[in-house]
Amino acid sequence: MRNFPAISMIRTVFRYLFGKTACQMYPKKPAVFFDTTRGHIEIDASRCILCGLCAMNCPVGAITVNREKHYWQIDHLGCIVCGACVEKCPKKCLTMENTYTAPANSKKVKKVNVTPPPKPKKPAPPPPVSDQG
Ligand code: SF4
Ligand code: SF4
Repeated sequence: MRNFPAISMIRTVFRYLFGKTACQMYPKKPAVFFDTTRGHIEIDASRCILCGLCAMNCPVGAITVNREKHYWQIDHLGCIVCGACVEKCPKKCLTMENTYTAPANSKKVKKVNVTPPPKPKKPAPPPPVSDQG
């Protein structure tokens, strides 16, 4: 049997013209995120104690913790979403969200004000010991 390459090509063209598309028609169809998608880091600032462990363990220095000025900051464009900060946070206030941050054409950092935990009260001095007795 003879092979007709032109017919085969026409069939392929028609299949691609009228068949189901393989690609997602983004943004018409919203992107699909999975539970395990490494999207971006979020913080629950109400639980943060500004200990700085997340910043110390970030391999790319994307997190800044400022105890004097009471803020926590992340550079989402610098973050490589490795999850090290989430693992190290002792207060479990960091989470790996499965959605991506909005596209940006300039470097933006997210700064969150944190109310520092109250300082522990000094114990009351012991009562003076009297010599009489
Ligand atoms: S996910 Fe990784 S790279 Fe991103 S801020 Fe946390 S430690 Fe740094
Ligand atoms: S986010 Fe967690 S690890 Fe980072 S400063 Fe706050 S309490 Fe510490």
